[in-house]
Amino acid sequence: MEDSFDEECDYLFKSVMIGDSAVGKSNLLSRFSRNEFRLDSKPTIGVEFAYRNIKVGDKLIKAQIWDTAGQERFRAITSSYYRGALGALLVYDITRKATFENVKKWLRELRDFGSSDMVVVLVGNKCDLGHSREVGEEEGRDFAEEEGLCFMETSALENVNVEEAFLHMVNKIHQVSTQKSL
Ligand code: GDP
Repeated sequence: MEDSFDEECDYLFKSVMIGDSAVGKSNLLSRFSRNEFRLDSKPTIGVEFAYRNIKVGDKLIKAQIWDTAGQERFRAITSSYYRGALGALLVYDITRKATFENVKKWLRELRDFGSSDMVVVLVGNKCDLGHSREVGEEEGRDFAEEEGLCFMETSALENVNVEEAFLHMVNKIHQVSTQKSL
């Protein structure tokens, strides 16, 4: 993935992608960082990350977003993955109930290893597959509300709400960070 430090930025924010295997984490990230979608599965195992520069007000933020790149399959995600992360996109697949049930487990891990004020956006991906839906939009929204998370349904395939989910997270991180430094 691209690793560019060519532009001066005001802030560098680390965020992580998390959730079960094959829910669409990598495709959401590649859609956001390079506007690409892949039908095949990932060729490599190992942590990868992508960058995108985002303007918030008059500040330039470099969003550095880490992807598990398949490590969750082997329960091999270590605490260093979460270290310093200010935000997380916690993803499930709306067509696979089990991936939604596991959100609780991922949230516990985020809370154990991440910072207490981490911004978490719960993402129900693959909303283009409405005919195979196993998790209702309300179910996702209600759970997010109970846990104090932001919520969005997305499609990496059809590019629905992808930009919105990431930008929401980055804006919220910026908000939290500026409040903290006041
Ligand atoms: P990851 O293991 O969570 O990183 O998941 P991937 O990004 O590798 O995606 C897993 C599979 O789901 C791949 O076959 C993708 O093509 C497919 N996929 C990812 N996002 C979507 C989506 O929004 N809609 C549909 N229909 N398929 C998707």
